[in-house]
Amino acid sequence: GKTPSEEYKRLWETITSGGIWRGELCNKKKNGELYWESVSISPIKDSKNIITHFIAIKEDITERKQAEERIRQLAYYDPLTGLPNRVLYNDRLSLALAHAQRTGETLAVLFLDLDRFKDINDTLGHSIGDQLLKAVAERLTDSLRKEDTATRQGGDEFTLLLPGMTQAEDAARVAQKILEAVRKPLTLGGHELNITTSIGVALYPADGEDGETLLKNVDTAMYHAKELGRNNYQFFTPALHVKTVEQLEMESSMHHALERKEFVVYYQPQVDIKTGRIVSSEALVRWQHPSRGIISPLEFISMAERTGLIVPIGEWVLRAACAENKALQDTGLPPLQVAVNLSARQFQQENLVEMVEQALEETGLDARFLVLEVTESTAMHNVENTAYKMERLNAFGVHFVIDDLGTGYSSLSYLKTFPIHALKIDRSFVQDVASDSNDAAIVTAVISMAKGLGLKVVAEGVETVAQLEFLRSRGCDEAQGYLFSKPMPAEEFKKMLEQDKRLRA
Ligand code: C2E
Ligand code: MG
Ligand code: MG
Repeated sequence: GKTPSEEYKRLWETITSGGIWRGELCNKKKNGELYWESVSISPIKDSKNIITHFIAIKEDITERKQAEERIRQLAYYDPLTGLPNRVLYNDRLSLALAHAQRTGETLAVLFLDLDRFKDINDTLGHSIGDQLLKAVAERLTDSLRKEDTATRQGGDEFTLLLPGMTQAEDAARVAQKILEAVRKPLTLGGHELNITTSIGVALYPADGEDGETLLKNVDTAMYHAKELGRNNYQFFTPALHVKTVEQLEMESSMHHALERKEFVVYYQPQVDIKTGRIVSSEALVRWQHPSRGIISPLEFISMAERTGLIVPIGEWVLRAACAENKALQDTGLPPLQVAVNLSARQFQQENLVEMVEQALEETGLDARFLVLEVTESTAMHNVENTAYKMERLNAFGVHFVIDDLGTGYSSLSYLKTFPIHALKIDRSFVQDVASDSNDAAIVTAVISMAKGLGLKVVAEGVETVAQLEFLRSRGCDEAQGYLFSKPMPAEEFKKMLEQDKRLRA
């Protein structure tokens, strides 16, 4: 805009030459407070056409000005963190690109997504989530130079714009600094939180000459950082682009996989640690891809979640598991439970209860032989709705297990508000139970608390005799893992049951 002195100069020029001046002026009250006026000044001339005096009409528009400023804030800034928003960011990005083009400078774009933010938000509540986002915004701002821009893109996503980078190492150094700043422990509402972030880095002009390409590529780089286990940064590379294209192809072939009957269910036995006998199994989906062979759910479940395909795929798995379990019982083998994983997205389905009841009816499996596995974060997402659906299914005879226990943030006693029968300790804790005293302490505590709550405990990913011995000594009820058996097709599982294979250790 114009500076005040320019404004006054124009005012005087206009009115002394006989014109009417209209404008807005900022003045100071006697007490020093600033106020805004809308002013119109008209020269009054005598009969000889000479200006004798001026008439000024003034209106205090301070409130309107404040409202305008507020609107500007809302339009360009994120109300929660006070950082520039997407709109202002795009503006600054195009300015910075134009500047970099003229000067031949390198520009870095960083894209951050907090790790497991959703879990924190779901389990500790939105108010803690909001405070966390504010704290992260502050840490980002503190890590940047004044010529850099940090913006909140929405949710738990932030973008940084760093002009004047002379080489990739400069951007790497900033990314490293930010990783460290974000992961400093933080206490909010009495909870100590260890938040980490995954960062993608893209450079102008190497990774894109326009804003759109840069943002697309930095997004790809960020996903790569997530895949590599979070809490790290990754530069965009052309190979990543190829991978993204492959994923898009996989996504489209997944759309046909159900009708082409490419999914199969494998079963992994769960054994009673005391008797060594198989007492149930977990149904684990596999995709027999026509050209890529067997694909693990780790590779496609998250994509199926994103696209919503998990709903029909999950329903198919449930039906297959019920039907195959019923077929096993019909051969005269002792009846076993089968555990089926339910994703968060399935839980949000309006008709989940009816769908499960219908699958049981149509396959003829008695409800008490079906166990549904849900993760902590699924349970904690929209607690009332989840609890209600669980109660209804539980009344029907279906059992529930909390899967991957220890990877979320909820307290065990809180989980007891759900009608659950068992806890499944996550593989990552079982893995080091015999060598890491910390994990040993956690597992011991979980088992004893579960006992106190009257819940059964299943350990997942048991691979060694040492792990099994530890679990046995702490009173863990059941074990599932490679030590006893890998997941296998229904036919093989049936043979194993016929041979009455036992766990000996
Ligand atoms: P999960 O429910 O925690 O399943 C346990 C995973 O641990 C399985 O991997 C199993 O093969 C693996 N595992 C079992 N014992 C061992 C062991 O001793 N060592 C090691 N290293 N791994 C072991 P899988 O079959 O690849 O499944 C991975 C995840 O995919 C599952 O984790 C589950 O979250 C998801 N998933 C699988 N099938 C389905 C499904 O039908 N629906 C949904 N929604 N998710 C599924
Ligand atoms: Mg599971
Ligand atoms: Mg699990």
